[in-house]
Amino acid sequence: MITDINNLGYGICRIEGIVTFVQGGVTGDELEIKIIKAAKDYLVARIEKVINSSPYRIESLCSVSKTCGGCVYRHITYDHEKQLKRSYVENAFRKAGVSVTVAEVMSNNKTEGYRNKVQYPVGTDGKIGYYKPKTHDIIECDNCILEAPLLYNIKKYISDFIKEKKIDCLRHIYLRCGIATDEVMVCLVSSKRSFTHLDTLCDEVCEKFPEVKCFALNLNDKDTNVILGKETFILRGNPYIEDELLGCRFRISPQSFYQVNHDMTELLYSKVIDLCDLKKGQSFIDLYCGCGTIGLCVASKTKTANMFGVEIIPQAVENAKVNAELNGIENAEFLCGDASDAPLHKCDCVIVDPPRKGLTPKLIDELASAEVEKIVYVSCNPDTLARDVAGFIEKGYKPSTVYPYDLFPRTGHVENIVCLCK
Ligand code: SAH
Repeated sequence: MITDINNLGYGICRIEGIVTFVQGGVTGDELEIKIIKAAKDYLVARIEKVINSSPYRIESLCSVSKTCGGCVYRHITYDHEKQLKRSYVENAFRKAGVSVTVAEVMSNNKTEGYRNKVQYPVGTDGKIGYYKPKTHDIIECDNCILEAPLLYNIKKYISDFIKEKKIDCLRHIYLRCGIATDEVMVCLVSSKRSFTHLDTLCDEVCEKFPEVKCFALNLNDKDTNVILGKETFILRGNPYIEDELLGCRFRISPQSFYQVNHDMTELLYSKVIDLCDLKKGQSFIDLYCGCGTIGLCVASKTKTANMFGVEIIPQAVENAKVNAELNGIENAEFLCGDASDAPLHKCDCVIVDPPRKGLTPKLIDELASAEVEKIVYVSCNPDTLARDVAGFIEKGYKPSTVYPYDLFPRTGHVENIVCLCK
C-alpha cells in the first residue's frame, strides 16, 4: 500500500520497514511491485500490477510524461498534487526545526499552457525534445502540455528547418513569450557564431511569425551543463521582448530571469505587495531583483516608495533601469553585484528572492545587524527557505504564515512567500 508521494513523483511504501520508492505509485494504491534497485537504506521498485487503484490516480494526458521527468504529478489529480505540495512545505519546515503554519496552496488551477519559456535541447541528429532525467538522451516531444501555445508553431518551424538543412551546431532552442503582449523571443544557443542558412532561418521565422520581436544567437562552445554561454548576438529586432505584470510594463533580455507562469506571478507579487504593506514615502530594498519586476510592481502600487534593487546579471540590471523609467518610477536605483555584498541601508522592508540555493549566512547576518524590521522572503525551494527561516529566528525574527503559490502545476516545484518581522 502506497502511503505518500515524494516531490520526484515516486510513491512511497515500506517493505519490512525499509523505505521503498515506487515509480508511478499513488497514495492509496495497492500494488504488486518488483524491486529494481536495493541501496543501503532504501529500495526502488516498479509496478508489476495494480491490485486496487488509488482514487487520486488519473490517466496521464502526455505520451512522454513517464520519461521526460518534467511533470512528476501527471498521473494524479491536481487537487491531490496541491495537498502533497503543502505537506512537502510543512515537512521542510519540520525538518529544519521551525514551527509555522503553512497555508493552503494558492493556485488559479490553470495547469496547461502556462509556461512562457521553453528550452529544448537539440541533438546533433536534429532531435528536439527534453533530456531524459540524469542523462543527455533526448526524448522527442512535439507537444508539451505545459507550454504556451503561441510557441508551438515557431518551435516546429525551426525544428523542421534545422532537420532539413542538417544544421548540427545548435545546442538548445530557447523561446520566451510575453503572455500579455504576445511578443516572442527566439534565442538559438549554438556552438558556432554563425552557420550556413542562419540568415535564411532568421528572415523566414521573422516573416512567418511577426510576433517574433527579438531574434538572438547565444554562443556556447563550452562543454558544460549551463545552457547559455557568455555572448549573445541580436540578429533581428530588439534585444528584449516586453510583457506586463499588474499593469506595469517590462523589458526582458534573453539573459534576464523572468517567472515562467505569468498569471500566477501576478498573484504571487500581489501577496508580496500586501505583506510589504509599505506606506507613501517609505523605502525598501529588492535583493535578487532580476529585471526589477517585483520591486517595480511594489513601487508602482505604493506610489512614492524609494527602492534599491540588487542583481548579479548585468543585462537584467540594464533592463531594470529602463523598466523603472517605462513605469514612471523615479526613486529607483539598481546595483549590479552579489546580493551578499550589497550595501544595506536603513529601510522599511527588504524583499529577497534568491535562486534555489537560498541566502548565504553572511546575508542573513547582515540583514539582522542592519536592524531590518521586515523581510519578505520569496523562494522557489522550500528546503533552503526553511533553513534560512531557522537562521532568521535565531537572530530574533518571527515568521508569518508560509504561503505556497503553485507557479509550476504538474511539476514537483512550488514557490513560497513568508514574512519575517523583528
Ligand atoms: N525577483 C526577480 C528574480 C528572481 S530569480 C523576479 O521575480 O523576476 C533570482 C535572481 O537572482 C536571478 O535574476 C539571478 O540572476 C539573481 N542572482 C543569482 N545569484 C545572485 C547573487 N549572488 N546576487 C544577486 N543576484 C543573484
